[in-house]
Amino acid sequence: RVRQQGGNLITTLPKDAHSKLSRRVEIEKELLVALDQQNLEVVYLPIFDSASKQVSCFEALVRWESDVLGSVSPEELIPIAEQTGLINDIGAFVLEKSCLQAAEWHQKGYDIKVNVNLSVREFHDKNMVRVIMQLLKQTGCPANRLQIEITEKFALEAEAEKRIIEQMHALQREGVRFVLDDFGTGYASLRYLQILPIESLKIDRSFIQMMSGNDKVLRLIKGMVSLGHSLQIKVIAEGIESEQQAKQLQTIGCDGLQGFHMSMPLKKGELERFLAHE
Ligand code: C2E
Ligand code: MG
Ligand code: MG
Ligand code: MG
Repeated sequence: RVRQQGGNLITTLPKDAHSKLSRRVEIEKELLVALDQQNLEVVYLPIFDSASKQVSCFEALVRWESDVLGSVSPEELIPIAEQTGLINDIGAFVLEKSCLQAAEWHQKGYDIKVNVNLSVREFHDKNMVRVIMQLLKQTGCPANRLQIEITEKFALEAEAEKRIIEQMHALQREGVRFVLDDFGTGYASLRYLQILPIESLKIDRSFIQMMSGNDKVLRLIKGMVSLGHSLQIKVIAEGIESEQQAKQLQTIGCDGLQGFHMSMPLKKGELERFLAHE
């Protein structure tokens, strides 16, 4: 952004860029400490089965309350972590907590799955299958209680794509399921439906927000639902904030419903009471 007064580019332009960069560097630095001290948290956002109205799974979402920086949102944290490679460490942390949680539900007799967000890029790591299978074994989480939500906003190279597909198929053979997140906004949503072993898709929150009174968006959502169903893929709506939206999406045929209207994300300590009320 060029400022008019004085037009001194050298002192005015880099200032913005500099504060952005120093924020980034600080986040990186503090994130390393937080990961080392296991100072991150995981919260759980329920997904309800449309037909039974019961909770079928919880999506694990990372939370970071830094002593130095205050709370840093995933919107800010995840892209920086992806660029620096620290996303693998966040992924490992969230996966472990989530598998422990799902194992606990399993032991207590609840039929509930856990959804973990992983970036497709995390599957570049050739060891991903081994790491996840080991973690499932170690935590006592049955493989079919873990679902992995993936998003990809960039194109992949053919070689990388091939490896990622192989790893996903290997995990699927073991019982792990995959959910295509933020459907309708990604770089290659339709291509992914074609080439990846996807069990469910989540219609992006932006569509749900624009739905009421917008016939075009409503038709798009209906189209996504029938597209999913014609491929035997379950369709979940995310970001539901009103009863009207929930009713409408259920009528349209969405299999799963998620959003602040039904529940806010829950801390580990709040889960037991929530499930007792269910
Ligand atoms: P996402 O996977 O699409 O997750 C849904 C996001 O929408 C969450 O935000 C959730 O809190 C929010 N949300 C759900 N329902 C509603 C609603 O009714 N209203 C509103 N206003 N918001 C709603 P959050 O936790 O800030 O996460 C943002 C994104 O960051 C996630 O989008 C996901 O892409 C990423 N993310 C979060 N946790 C992790 C993680 O552990 N690993 C990775 N790789 N990414 C994560
Ligand atoms: Mg998600
Ligand atoms: Mg999403
Ligand atoms: Mg999203």
